Amino acid sequence: MPELPEVETVRRTLQQKLAGLKFTDVQIFLPKIVRTPDPGEFRKTITDKKIIRISRRGKYLLVCLSSSHTLVVHLRMTGRLIYSESDGPPPKYTHAIFHLDNGARLYFADMRQFGQMWLVPVSSLDDLAGYKKLGVEPLDDLFTRDYLKKQLRRRHARIKSLLLDQTFIAGLGNIYTDEVLHRARINPERLATTLTPREIARLYHAIRDVLQESIENRGTSVRDFVDGNGQAGKYQEHLRVYGREGKPCPCCGEKIVRKKVGGRSSYFCPSCQKY
Ligand SMILES: [Zn+2]
Repeated sequence: MPELPEVETVRRTLQQKLAGLKFTDVQIFLPKIVRTPDPGEFRKTITDKKIIRISRRGKYLLVCLSSSHTLVVHLRMTGRLIYSESDGPPPKYTHAIFHLDNGARLYFADMRQFGQMWLVPVSSLDDLAGYKKLGVEPLDDLFTRDYLKKQLRRRHARIKSLLLDQTFIAGLGNIYTDEVLHRARINPERLATTLTPREIARLYHAIRDVLQESIENRGTSVRDFVDGNGQAGKYQEHLRVYGREGKPCPCCGEKIVRKKVGGRSSYFCPSCQKY
């Protein structure tokens, strides 16, 4: 599933391509991907709207339009937004085609069909399920060591589950929680309330550093992630634990293990990340 670095990578590529263009039409082949409004109203509202900028909140992409409407996109498992100036056939599993006033197209493709779109006035963004409750943006200035320390004290949960909770911090998924915890040398099953100040400091820096390094590498392509130009990321070459069961830990050589924590698969080093 695309996590914060992948969604941010898509945002950056689409910002370059789309800002300033106008939607001239949209074709929707799979109505269920549009949560609101109905496809007819969706088409009517988006036609002739100018794209002001692309922003991001957690794993949501926000295409801000003239007329103060926002096209909100969540890619979920396998959703892709791909900009193309070629006349060739659309990518496989294309469920919507947005036509642009420079003759190019923006494709929404999704093999698993869990991706979703909403077209709403800016003032109604908070009505979207899950959006209003999103936690702090980990790369924002509001996310400080102190803030993290205070939040951790209030939550009785295993650290892996807590980092995955979008109401705690927005944007982390299974890949980056494992990478962050290895970097911070914290066992995924540790209770958040038991972390020492030193561990919290390491956790804070690990969250910022891992996300930033991944964005610099244009995200992780473990299955099929591509950016807005259809290009894969490179961070999979830098993963230390995720997907590396039985392989040596790059820090100590011990074999990486995989264990279910709170129903989710966790990869960690039993030596660097002792309980
Ligand atoms: Zn190790």
